[in-house]
Amino acid sequence: MKAVTVTPATRRVEVRDVPEPRPQSPSQVSLRMIRAGVCGTDREICRFDYGTPPAGSDYLVIGHESLAEVAEAGAEAKGWKKGDLAVLIVRRPCGDPACDACRAGRQDFCVTGNYTERGIKGEHGFMAQTVVEDARYLVHVPAELRDVAVLVEPLTIAEKARLEVDAMLDRMPWRRESVNGLHVMVLGGGPVGLLGAMAFSAAGCRVTLASRQPATDVRAKLLEAIGGRYVPVGPPPLGEAVKQAGRVDVVYEAIGAAPPAFEALQALGPNGLFVFTGVPGRRGTPDVDGGALMRSLVLNNQVALGTVNAGRDAYEAAVADLGRFMQRWPDAVRALVTNHVPLADAPKALTSPPDGIKTVIEIG
Ligand code: BGC
Repeated sequence: MKAVTVTPATRRVEVRDVPEPRPQSPSQVSLRMIRAGVCGTDREICRFDYGTPPAGSDYLVIGHESLAEVAEAGAEAKGWKKGDLAVLIVRRPCGDPACDACRAGRQDFCVTGNYTERGIKGEHGFMAQTVVEDARYLVHVPAELRDVAVLVEPLTIAEKARLEVDAMLDRMPWRRESVNGLHVMVLGGGPVGLLGAMAFSAAGCRVTLASRQPATDVRAKLLEAIGGRYVPVGPPPLGEAVKQAGRVDVVYEAIGAAPPAFEALQALGPNGLFVFTGVPGRRGTPDVDGGALMRSLVLNNQVALGTVNAGRDAYEAAVADLGRFMQRWPDAVRALVTNHVPLADAPKALTSPPDGIKTVIEIG
């Protein structure tokens, strides 16, 4: 079968023939991949800054944002049948009995760091014609979301963040328990930022999104469509934009670069919650006055929170939310996928500078 592979030793990114996986147990499902999304992590793997092939393999099949159709379901793959649509969960547990998070099925909170991630770390991913996976790592997708369900995985980042913000609100007993009514400032106009804006807006938040593109950019219209506000930044700097946005309850960082993120963190107001979601490359050191930041965190009861990957709850919330988004804002959701690339051209798409919003690789 054809797959997109990266080979660190020879620094090659290519489409090539690799052995087709076959189910090894009755709880497994064989999937025909429909499409896979491209994100910043994939691009970093293709620059050989990140990513690890499975043990014993010199290459990694890349891809972790998925949409697949079931080709064959094992006898013990309960709830799955041929033709069902599925999105695959990315992370697998570390297997260490001392890791209570993995033991509880919450490998997104793994403490040993020995988890694997399909298409990223130690396991082949989803830019391949066939994928085999245990039913427990599949999430059902209704047929009407077929066109857009490749956005489920990047949406899980916002869903996990929203669940965590919900939990954090308990610390302020006079507050409602849900994010409804909060002012959320999203930093970054890529897919993670835009999907985050949709998720918080759908949850009843007032949303402001700040990004580098001018006020005439399509992002401004997208924000308007979902009832939010778009703020082009630079100049003024991002910290100024946060201060000028009025009272901000939550900052949702989706830039993936440390200097602007820390600049914004230093502008956070009283009781503010700052959620980091970006995995920055090694470039760029933030200019931080540690003393001032610590003073602000303490005297303002602030929370800075990092969140990675997602559990099944966030995947299921993402599927449900995507359905809601499609009812309320179908054009805005569809506008997020700007580039459809055939499998043969995936290496070029993965190694050229990003353009548009979301690029997806069409596999089958
Ligand atoms: C993926 C996550 C993954 C993270 C770190 C992100 O791009 O969406 O699933 O945990 O990269 O590898």
